[in-house]
Amino acid sequence: MRITIFIFFFIPICHFGQTIADCKDRFDNYLNLKGSLNNSVIFEKDIIFLLNEKGEKEFAAYANELPLLSSFFENSNVDDQLKIFKQKGTRKFTRREADSLLMAIDDDTQLPQNNGKRPLQGIRIAIDPGHFSSTLENAKVEGKYLHFIKPGTNILDSIELVEGNLTFLTAKILKAMIEERGARVILSRPAQNYTAFSMTYNYWYKYKRTKILDSLKKINELTDEKYKKLKKLTKEKLFWAFFRDYELVARSNKINAFNPHLTVIIHYNVDEKNSPWQNASERNNTMCFIGGAFVDTDLKKINNKLHFLRLLFCKQINESEDISHLTVTAFSKNLKVNKAKLNDADYLISKGLGTEHEGVFCRNLILTRYINSPLVYGESLFQDNVIECTKLNECNYEAYGIKVPERVYMVARSYYEAIMDYFIR
Ligand SMILES: [Zn+2]
Repeated sequence: MRITIFIFFFIPICHFGQTIADCKDRFDNYLNLKGSLNNSVIFEKDIIFLLNEKGEKEFAAYANELPLLSSFFENSNVDDQLKIFKQKGTRKFTRREADSLLMAIDDDTQLPQNNGKRPLQGIRIAIDPGHFSSTLENAKVEGKYLHFIKPGTNILDSIELVEGNLTFLTAKILKAMIEERGARVILSRPAQNYTAFSMTYNYWYKYKRTKILDSLKKINELTDEKYKKLKKLTKEKLFWAFFRDYELVARSNKINAFNPHLTVIIHYNVDEKNSPWQNASERNNTMCFIGGAFVDTDLKKINNKLHFLRLLFCKQINESEDISHLTVTAFSKNLKVNKAKLNDADYLISKGLGTEHEGVFCRNLILTRYINSPLVYGESLFQDNVIECTKLNECNYEAYGIKVPERVYMVARSYYEAIMDYFIR
């Protein structure tokens, strides 16, 4: 009887509509890339089954459990999710289990009351400035820079763009804009050239690498063989073999600990067909990513199964689509750049899933998978476009005491407009 009462109260408040049909819709339209999960997930009239690699039923969600599971996954970390995943398996929650799980949920996803002058008051927004380098030298380690002769000149006047610097400046301006409206904001990395560990990669490599690799080996996160291999790698090689993904997970842990109502991940794109970026490109477009687009091998790791179930049960992916649609529309309008189509890039064709909103694609990236909140992963423009690269190369604008290229201000302004539209409708 108590579970009936819970469903009556809970559904209308925050998880209205979490039905088998809603989950099936998310599975078909966002999560299942080209049918590759067809043998991993089964939908029956009142049950959803997740299968293991042997094709055996490993976890079941029954229709009347979906509001509870949705709320639980949204308001818990992967350690708690793993416990429930193992305890529950394919059986139904008992009334007592459902009750105690409900009591344990501290639902912190509700939006505060709208306050006229400071409309974002009490809203928590995490911002992730993509990559970490702000200098050309550091950017060479992560391969996120452009360095070529300025278009239209034949002298030694060069374009020097570092993506991690553009993203950090954008994040600083956006932070100031939304704080002015009352939002509580964190940046996933605190300063230019700093990683999520609040230090440069050079410092980390010199002073922290050994300690981290040793501790990961001790807890069996690294095999002996892998440990020995990683210990010997140069700064550049260790970045690709280990640090890049390790630091992205640290960013998402930091963001999840803040429990944001929204996460904004800031990147600047390049034209993939212009590789190795020795010249400018005529092409330009704008796009945003949300989670989804899983393939069956993504479900081998237990953590990924848990992220998958969260995205299946909760409406975060629908909310991510809303904010991403608003963002890509603001980019397109303010920057006068066309929205990308699925066949505009090979990575979209092979790994992306289009949505019904032009310029918004599902991508199964570490951050779009690990972050437990609605999110937008913005790729506002192509830095190597013939006009953009010149404009981005000049710091000709000042906002909030920060000197930036005017295009960077316009990108921050576009995120800001989308955020205001998203929360105040
Ligand atoms: Zn990037």
